[in-house]
Amino acid sequence: MSSLSLKADLLLYGGRVLTLDPARPTAEALAVAAGQILAVGGEEELRPLIAAHTQTLACDGRTILPGFVDPHLHLFAWASHFCGTDLGTARSIPEIQGLLARDLSHISTGDWVRGYSYDEFFLAEKRHPTRRDLDLVSLDHPVILRHRTGHAAVLNSAALRRAGITQHFTPPAGGSVERDPLTGEPTGVVYELEKFLRTVLPPLSSHDFTAGVKQASAELLRQGVCSFHDASAGNTLEDFALFRRFNAEGLLVSRATVMIGIDALPQLVDAGLAPFSGDERVRLGSVKIIVHESRGTLYPEPDELAEMVWQAHRHGFQLALHAVEEGAVCAALNAIEHAQRRLPRADHRHRIEHCALCPPPFVDTLVETGSAVVTQPGFLYFYGDKYAAEVDPQLHSWLYRTKSLLECGVQVAGSSDCPIAPLSPLTGVQAAMTRRSRTGTPLHLQDRLALRDALALLGCWPIWSCLIETS
Ligand SMILES: [Zn+2]
Repeated sequence: MSSLSLKADLLLYGGRVLTLDPARPTAEALAVAAGQILAVGGEEELRPLIAAHTQTLACDGRTILPGFVDPHLHLFAWASHFCGTDLGTARSIPEIQGLLARDLSHISTGDWVRGYSYDEFFLAEKRHPTRRDLDLVSLDHPVILRHRTGHAAVLNSAALRRAGITQHFTPPAGGSVERDPLTGEPTGVVYELEKFLRTVLPPLSSHDFTAGVKQASAELLRQGVCSFHDASAGNTLEDFALFRRFNAEGLLVSRATVMIGIDALPQLVDAGLAPFSGDERVRLGSVKIIVHESRGTLYPEPDELAEMVWQAHRHGFQLALHAVEEGAVCAALNAIEHAQRRLPRADHRHRIEHCALCPPPFVDTLVETGSAVVTQPGFLYFYGDKYAAEVDPQLHSWLYRTKSLLECGVQVAGSSDCPIAPLSPLTGVQAAMTRRSRTGTPLHLQDRLALRDALALLGCWPIWSCLIETS
């Protein structure tokens, strides 16, 4: 317990405080001063902290948890979802059409209609909607649907025209356009074209975007997420400045650490910004690189990836490598290993984001290179049925591992990846403990965590991977 000379602004008593501190796992009361936890302990023990101004709150046996730290979410993408149509609960294409038609009346003719978070696996038709399906919603408005994962999108005919995606369109490297096998016409479904699409779509109005940020920020607070690491690969120094501005304007309540995309690394270096510079409220975070495997090809290809990783590593930055597929995880680990061999750094805290499939040899490399895994236990709940159907059961023991990685000495942290999945840290805790999907499908139950570890996964272990142990 801290010094008794300071008095509490707020004292919670009669509760069950789970501290996650093995030395004192539970307590009855908790005192807060100047926005920070002053002390936890027994009611009698904390009574001397009460002053005339102290607000006291009886908890009637309720449980009090430490704030959650979400080491991987996308605040601005999430904010923009509040300005579009949420399709996450849609279970058929007519349902998607109905939801879009409902919102269409608020959108001026010719303006973009934006839908988010559809997933063909959960649709009765078991396929992506096409341009024809969306043309039935509107021929005048350009309509775009973003896939839940952010790796695919569907455009109607008006949107395809605006984007210049015609029969003769050549997608940028790594991207692809699905075509009708008979006519060669784009079906409306595109893959890995997000960067290109962002140059086509007009940005949201400042009013709408700010309102979205406010809503996302309120939601973080409501669900107890005190600190987060924004993991957007498109982040530049301008985005970092935007986070700072939103914080200065009082719109960001939680503390933010902001990753910067690899493309903006020269910008960082030229500006002379040191890793993790900023202040306690908004700090610069790791350098983000997306590594993905599509039809057996890796993007970026291994030599290019090694060079990107080397540049961030040699400038002293923490790396966050998005890697889902086995080949991508392998390439990401190879690149870290290579950089570490060239220039060993003792406390780099490089991270593999997602690490969805992690076979035993990768675990050894994670340990040898001192790299962390930032996983998404909530995916097991929200998308577990899809994994159960699509991932070979023999690989389930490698899927979104937690306990088995921890036992091998790997640093693991749990995140939401919101808006790829709902924020809900409590669902993350539940999924880490049960490893069951929404419908109860089990996914390698041997990897379940006990309650205290599941809370730590989303509460205090991310502190290491976000390098915020001093604040
Ligand atoms: Zn993400």
